Formats: sequence, structure tokens, C-alpha cells
Amino acid sequence: MDAREQLRRYLEQRRDMGETELVLDSLSVDDTLRILGARAAQTSAPPVREPAIARPTGPAATPVVEPLSSLDGLASLEAIAAHVAGCQRCPLYSTATRPVPGEGNPNADFMCVGEAPGATEDETGRPFVGAAGQLLTKILAAIELKREDVYICNVLKHRPPGNRNPRPEEVVACSPYLVRQIELIQPKVILALGTFAAQTLLDTKLPISKLRGDVHRYCGVPLVVTYHPAALLRNPSWKRPTWEDVQLARRILDSATTRPNAGS
Ligand code: URA
Repeated sequence: MDAREQLRRYLEQRRDMGETELVLDSLSVDDTLRILGARAAQTSAPPVREPAIARPTGPAATPVVEPLSSLDGLASLEAIAAHVAGCQRCPLYSTATRPVPGEGNPNADFMCVGEAPGATEDETGRPFVGAAGQLLTKILAAIELKREDVYICNVLKHRPPGNRNPRPEEVVACSPYLVRQIELIQPKVILALGTFAAQTLLDTKLPISKLRGDVHRYCGVPLVVTYHPAALLRNPSWKRPTWEDVQLARRILDSATTRPNAGS
């Protein structure tokens, strides 16, 4: 592998881990990758977002078409999906082909949260059905979970054009849907897939390397962070830590779903 390719891979790996700055100069990782001609679809928007999943208190950068409180009345996942289908809370609806609200068991104990729909998801209206999705299905199978038994969704419900990074105002506009989905599903454990979902749900700017390995809480629900399956496809050496993360999530699920005196 030539030095240029090695540098490109290194930078992509750093970005997957949530880093946006190169310490020794003022170029961002994305700018440097662009100069190298790599993965041009990404924008230079930093992956660290605020104010994350919390309901915003100040004015949003994008006009909010409907009050946030109206989402509290959405009483089912179908109602959320219908609302998402007509959503104009941020401009992404105008460039996306289909909304991707999420899918799976409405009573799931295990919930996976990714970043945003990609091209295949945008075409089909289903989350995690492209290459990364197929890997996610295998990861779930490895901990003896079927796709249809869990609930799978993303922070954003419409695809950012060209798979660019989600923008803070899009997260602010879209995250009430995720909040409501979690309220309705009441999972026993949430698996945050990748830096973006983890930082959004935990309202932190810490890199994924500092977030994985611990059991966090989102509104009282245990939350485990692992690498995004797309990042895993690029960095096979992350298979081992991912396996450890999902086993941790599985143990939490088992302890939450096993009755105290079961087996005695
Ligand atoms: N990546 C995501 O974060 N979500 C999807 O649904 C597909 C790819």
C-alpha cells in the first residue's frame, strides 16, 4: 500500500473515531481528505453536534414548522412514521426520496440507533438495508437477535444529500422523533452505532474511543456505544472491540429480561 493510501486510511479512521482536527496544523480531517481526493461525499461539517437530543430551548437555525410539543401526542410508531412522511421541519425532506422512520418490533427490548439513511435506505424507506445494514444484521445474529425482534432507526429520518454529515439544526429538528420512539418502545438497552448517534444521544463531544466500553444511560435506559457498521467495513481491526461491545449489550439485555427467580 503506498504512503498516500495509508495516510488516507489513517485519516478516515481518525474521522470515524470522531476526530475533526489535525493537531499539527489548521486543516480539518475532511479538508485533508478532500485534498487527497478521498471520499469526496463528506463535507467539512464537524461530526460533533450540539445541542444533541435534548429538546432545544433557544431558536433553531431552521424555522420549525410545527411546535415540538405536538409530537408528544404521537401515540404509536405508525403515527410517528406518518408524521415523518409529511415532515418539513428541516430541508432534508426536499432532497430525500423517501422518509426512513425506522422499523422493527414496537415492543423491542433492544434498540439500535444509527446516524442517517444512506442511498439504499433512501430508495427503500428502510433503515440499515445497504452494505452496513447487512453487517448489522450479522452482528445482531451473532448475539442471537433477529432483525425483526429489535427496533432499528436513525437520528435523522431523511437522507442528507450525498451522505454528508448531519447538520446541528437537522438534528435539533429531527431528534424529537427519536425521543418519542424511545419513549414508546421503552427498550431495555440501546445500542448507539457510531460516533454520531453516540454523541447525539449522550449529548457529548467525547470521541467514540472514550465512549465505548462503558454502560451509559439515556433517560434511564442503559446505552452501549459501538462502532458504526460502515466504519467496521473500512476498519476490520475494530471487529474485536465491536464484538465486546455487543456482548456487553447482550448481557444487559439478558439481565433486564431474566426474571429474578427464573430457573430456581
Ligand atoms: N448508516 C446509518 O447510519 N443508517 C442507515 O440506516 C444506513 C447506514
